[in-house]
Amino acid sequence: MSRFDFHQHAACAGQPTAIFYSDDHTTNTRAAKQLCQQCSIRQRCLEDAIERREEFGVWGGLTASERVAERKRRGLPTGPYGLRYSESVRNDRRIRETNQLAMEVGA
Ligand code: SF4
Repeated sequence: MSRFDFHQHAACAGQPTAIFYSDDHTTNTRAAKQLCQQCSIRQRCLEDAIERREEFGVWGGLTASERVAERKRRGLPTGPYGLRYSESVRNDRRIRETNQLAMEVGA
């Protein structure tokens, strides 16, 4: 069984995916969370999303920011690619500054 095979048993199967990809604290997010609460594979879905550091949408009943908080609670890295969030922000800034410098010198 592949990572996503278990989703065929999901409460969200056949539902519009858009409701799982809205900003936190909206009516649509609440609708997605209600579906997740009824889902027989909620815990597995949540663990899978936490493991792969899913950055978007509601998975296993938690929003992206709630999953970051859960990773933090478990002592796991909280940023993408194994970086803590502050490290990933610093890296993003460094990349932007390097690209800007390269444009200025015509590289
Ligand atoms: S927990 Fe939510 S997102 Fe995960 S499979 Fe179930 S309904 Fe879908």
